[in-house]
Amino acid sequence: MPEVPYFVQLHEALEICMKRKLDIGIEELPLDLCHDKILATDLVSKVDDPPFDNSAMDGFAMRHEDTIAPPTTLDIIATIQAAGQEEDVFVEKGQAVRIMTGAPMPRGANSILQIEMTDVDGDKVTLLKESMPDFIRRKGENLTKGQVAITSGTLLTPSQIGMCATMGYEKLPVFKPLKVAIISTGDELIQPGQELQRGQIYESNSFGIAGLVKWLGHKPVRMQCVGDTLEDLRQTLNEASESCDLILTSGGVSMGEWDLVRKIMEQEGTLDFWRVKLRPGSPPLFGLWNSTPIFGLPGNPVSSHVVFRMIVAPWIRNLTGAEGPVEKRAFARLSTVVKPTKDCLTLRRVSIEKGDNELIASQKIHQGSGNIASMAHSEALVVLKPGEEYPIGKIVEIIFL
Ligand code: AMP
Ligand code: MG
Repeated sequence: MPEVPYFVQLHEALEICMKRKLDIGIEELPLDLCHDKILATDLVSKVDDPPFDNSAMDGFAMRHEDTIAPPTTLDIIATIQAAGQEEDVFVEKGQAVRIMTGAPMPRGANSILQIEMTDVDGDKVTLLKESMPDFIRRKGENLTKGQVAITSGTLLTPSQIGMCATMGYEKLPVFKPLKVAIISTGDELIQPGQELQRGQIYESNSFGIAGLVKWLGHKPVRMQCVGDTLEDLRQTLNEASESCDLILTSGGVSMGEWDLVRKIMEQEGTLDFWRVKLRPGSPPLFGLWNSTPIFGLPGNPVSSHVVFRMIVAPWIRNLTGAEGPVEKRAFARLSTVVKPTKDCLTLRRVSIEKGDNELIASQKIHQGSGNIASMAHSEALVVLKPGEEYPIGKIVEIIFL
């Protein structure tokens, strides 16, 4: 048995790996190239949004006092369709200004009535309803100049990119994506597209894991799959540590004679922990190969996915100062039996449906850790604490997939 922390709790595994950091470079990119990039600074708004009071409707601007006893007929004194046109306009008692959505409010006016509620006859407008002070979008009501609007570590979404443009940014400092080597191991694995021979299966983990790496905003590098020989594995790990920032392996981390990732890490690497009290996904390891951090993920497809979400993702996100879990969590009521285990944090894959006032979780698919369909067709993982009972009807925490 190696003299490293062994079969640790999930929180212990996280504490151990968080001690190893990686410096991630920062680059400045034009906004166009910032989609799915990780923001490397807190971003302060350069402007008030909106920058001026403006109309929320196509209609008329006037004094609210003039409109409280509809129908009311007012004189149309001007049209404001764009900024600048309001400068010489002052709305007096008995007057109205034709105004377009987004155009600046004229002085003197304090309310809007939408066009549908008016009858226009030449230069007179009859208001069929009392006007609306609420139909003015006030200067700074969305964002105020100087306010921190997005924090460092945020993986930028389309609407956040739009907000950056609204705030006046043409370029942003973002973290350079980590290059993450993904190495699948196992003599039984062949590439999809080839014909399966007896005893072979298609290599699938590297494809799924590559997607998880991209999901966090980094760059997956799928290396060639290695057979179960120490020489091949050593050579591929060396190549990966020279060309990439982080190594993820799949397979070969259990107790068996052919579990060569575990073996080579014990003999030639630096091992920080091995095995975690997590189901599925109990055999992972973490450490350094040369000086490159390495996570050894289990070979079973569900296990490798779960370990990525529960250990690798928090570690990677921590490097860029991201706060909180990446995935949405919620609570749901169990409508089927789900089985916890005695000593491991257990994650079962469930479907989530909307109940009357709550979410309903049901386990519908065979839960083998080799059954990737159980992951692919489920909406969430339920979090089951070791030793607790989970009868039908219990409220449980869920992690959306
Ligand atoms: P191992 O941890 O290497 O013993 O692998 C555990 C199980 O996962 C075995 O049934 C393997 O065939 C399977 N497995 C290992 N690596 C992969 C992979 N890259 N893609 C799909 N299945 C895999
Ligand atoms: Mg194997």
